[in-house]
Amino acid sequence: MKTVYLDHNATAPMRLEVFDLVTKIMGGVGNASSVHSYGRGARKYVEDARQQVAHLCHVAPDQVVFTGGATESINTVHCGFRDKRVLTSTIEHPAVMAAAPHAERIPVTTDGVVDMDAYKKMLSEGEPPGLVSVMLVNSETGVIQPIAEMAALAHEAGALFHTDAVQGAGRLDIGLETLGVDYISLSAHKFAGPQGVGAIITRKGIDLSKFMLGGGQEKNCRAGTHNTAGIAGMGLAAELALQNIMHYDTLAKMRDELEKRMRQITNNITIYGEAAPRVGNTINVGLSNVPAQTQMMALDLDGIAVSSGSACSSGSFKPSHVLTAMGADEEAAKNALRISMGWNTTQGELDRFFDSWSKLATRNNI
Ligand code: PLP
Repeated sequence: MKTVYLDHNATAPMRLEVFDLVTKIMGGVGNASSVHSYGRGARKYVEDARQQVAHLCHVAPDQVVFTGGATESINTVHCGFRDKRVLTSTIEHPAVMAAAPHAERIPVTTDGVVDMDAYKKMLSEGEPPGLVSVMLVNSETGVIQPIAEMAALAHEAGALFHTDAVQGAGRLDIGLETLGVDYISLSAHKFAGPQGVGAIITRKGIDLSKFMLGGGQEKNCRAGTHNTAGIAGMGLAAELALQNIMHYDTLAKMRDELEKRMRQITNNITIYGEAAPRVGNTINVGLSNVPAQTQMMALDLDGIAVSSGSACSSGSFKPSHVLTAMGADEEAAKNALRISMGWNTTQGELDRFFDSWSKLATRNNI
């Protein structure tokens, strides 16, 4: 029986074209900093990818710095603001939470959207912040944050703005100007590129602190030999993600239909972020009195892969900080399952999920 993979927010399967390019480059040799022909060949892959990633964010190629993933991108941006006042939200990914341990956390509403009144109050009180850092799309609920509005307010208050756009890339327009931000963090594997490669996009004229120290790669912004294969794969994945962005409208329709069918089985469910703007691929659904671990194991036995909470915390059984920040009580939050679709998800796969989930819901809940 073929496994159904519905965990794209943890990592998306690589597109075949990307896989072919990455493996071809890995089979060769060349350090992008070397001057001989092998080095120049590697450098060409890196510079082509820079253009492709720049295109995804509607910026010039020299605004793109390649990193080892979004965790590194986020740490790099935040390390420049360690002695400044920083605002983030209560629903950020652990990378932001850990990179900005002393940040003040902006609360969210029960829909999972940043509370704009609280944000405005925090901006107007105390010393002006150096940085506001809020994610574009929440990885657990898919809820989209009002980044353009928040960034404009941050700028009025004299602060710079960073957005972790990891879960928005390839799903929404993540143009730097559209979002009105100063820094964007990205990770290739969330849009069908390889794991372990990412980028920081920086507004022209804005400084980027050095986090990785060593050689002079990436115009002295990020030391370390280029991951040529990974970077090339990220570039191609960015191009393909941009070409297929409309697919998320189709996924949104498939998601709405699935949620409707789930409601027809039982009313004992909570769909987190349902009333807020969401990306098309994510459902976060709590089934009353059935722990997510039980649900995940039952689905796994039927060959269906989903997750609870974010991938990074799914090894532990703590309730999700995102759902509790939205006002869910701890017990309810432990019953929440995340289903996340992507470029290769089919209606047949969602039907398989629904059959398995409805058996489980009927057995445990009605
Ligand atoms: N930010 C968000 C919203 C994420 O979902 C993730 C990964 O789960 C990250 C940051 C970190 O990305 P990476 O683990 O690729 O560094």
